[in-house]
Amino acid sequence: MAKLKIKIPDELMTSPISIACPFCEAKPGIDCETTSGGLSAVHILRIESAALIDKKKKRKTVKRSV
Ligand SMILES: [Zn+2]
Repeated sequence: MAKLKIKIPDELMTSPISIACPFCEAKPGIDCETTSGGLSAVHILRIESAALIDKKKKRKTVKRSV
């Protein structure tokens, strides 16, 4: 029984909440803002920087596997 399939879970994606916000400097694990209604908000800049980290990670993984 050979295990050739390698599944990469989506959980490896960097969550915007897991990094500090470059816009308002909210600490990791803490929402940028909480509205008066109790809803949490995260700045777009934070989401974008998390996406950037993901891109860099993917590039590194590709280089390693080649
Ligand atoms: Zn923020």
